[in-house]
Amino acid sequence: MTLEAIDKQYVLNTYARNYVNFKKGVNATLYDDNENDYIDFTSGIGVVSVGHGNERVANKICEQVKNITHISNLYAIESQAKLAQKIVELSGFDMACFFGNSGAEANEGAIKIARKYGEINFNNKRYKIVTLGHSFHGRTITTIKASGQKKMHTPHFSPYPEGFSYKQRLDDLYETIDEETVAVMIELIQGEGGVQPFPKEDIQKLALFLKEKDILLIIDEVQTGAYRTGEFLASSLYDIEPDIITLAKGVGGGVPIGIVMTKHKDIFSPGDHGSTFGGNYLSTAASLEVCNILDEYKNSGQLDETIIYFETKLKEFYENNRHLFYREVGLGLMRGLRVNDEETLSKIIDNAFEKGLLLLKAGKITLRFLPPLTISKDEIDEGFKRLGVAVEKL
Ligand SMILES: *Cc1c(COP(=O)(O)O)cnc(C)c1O
Repeated sequence: MTLEAIDKQYVLNTYARNYVNFKKGVNATLYDDNENDYIDFTSGIGVVSVGHGNERVANKICEQVKNITHISNLYAIESQAKLAQKIVELSGFDMACFFGNSGAEANEGAIKIARKYGEINFNNKRYKIVTLGHSFHGRTITTIKASGQKKMHTPHFSPYPEGFSYKQRLDDLYETIDEETVAVMIELIQGEGGVQPFPKEDIQKLALFLKEKDILLIIDEVQTGAYRTGEFLASSLYDIEPDIITLAKGVGGGVPIGIVMTKHKDIFSPGDHGSTFGGNYLSTAASLEVCNILDEYKNSGQLDETIIYFETKLKEFYENNRHLFYREVGLGLMRGLRVNDEETLSKIIDNAFEKGLLLLKAGKITLRFLPPLTISKDEIDEGFKRLGVAVEKL
């Protein structure tokens, strides 16, 4: 049986998949079973931050799993404690972490922290959480409801939990807030929603307003975190101090990990929250090495150099193809080009794939670029060369 046949027979049909069989990866280059190479401008949707086949991470994982992979959270886990310390230090915030396995699980943790905060700190129970249109917070029943994309609230999975509402625009959030509102949850740069950064002043104004009202600010950094925007956290770029931050995707470099961190360090007591796999030796040893690598990469100036180089090439491509694109969006290595229509966007992605370049879509009309943070200049050059060829005849 071919890979496609096995996949179609035995795996539930939830993704519109490309049937390519990748066999090897080196930084931002992938090779399939026919030795074709592909430049990866997706990093597995912002996950493989340190590149494919990263030797340092591979060695750490091997070393760890040859010894202990998992013991449960009933015992202290050294790599978990050290990763928590590293993440808190890199964040610059006085916070503590909880470890899960995905972005959605991290956001579930954030929602639980907010709900408990709302229960113990006020006479009336505060429980409502306000989010934004076009936001994406995950695929569990609760995080579907927290996501502000109408198409996600399909009746297939209803009823959804109460206490979530969303507003299209940042300015409209204010009017939704009432005495039962406990938190506002947002991305600073909406990833799935179209690589849409919010203006810094607007975010700072919101943060100040929420602080005055004792309403929690939850920043979903599942996509923006782990240096994707050039800083460890986009929250630092925006110069805000959130109450709760969630991380996943790039912070694990490919191992499943989700982290919720908060400055309300005493909010949980034993029994309030948990996760069987969360924070085990495998994921935290790997993630700690990923954080060390990216910290060094940032401090050496190489990350900023890569961002500038990528940006220059992207702008050059954009200027040469203004007939296809009308806006350039994003920050750091989280970038997008708005395409005039949906159909053209699909064609660009399909053509690029045929020419050996992996690209993503965000929202309906954004061509999205999320390369590994460690992508080389040669890989950037080659990727844009292939992209140029892919759009030539459009
Ligand atoms: C990907 C993503 C999630 C969901 O993460 P999973 O690991 O797929 O559960 C949540 N929030 C944002 C901003 C994301 O980009």
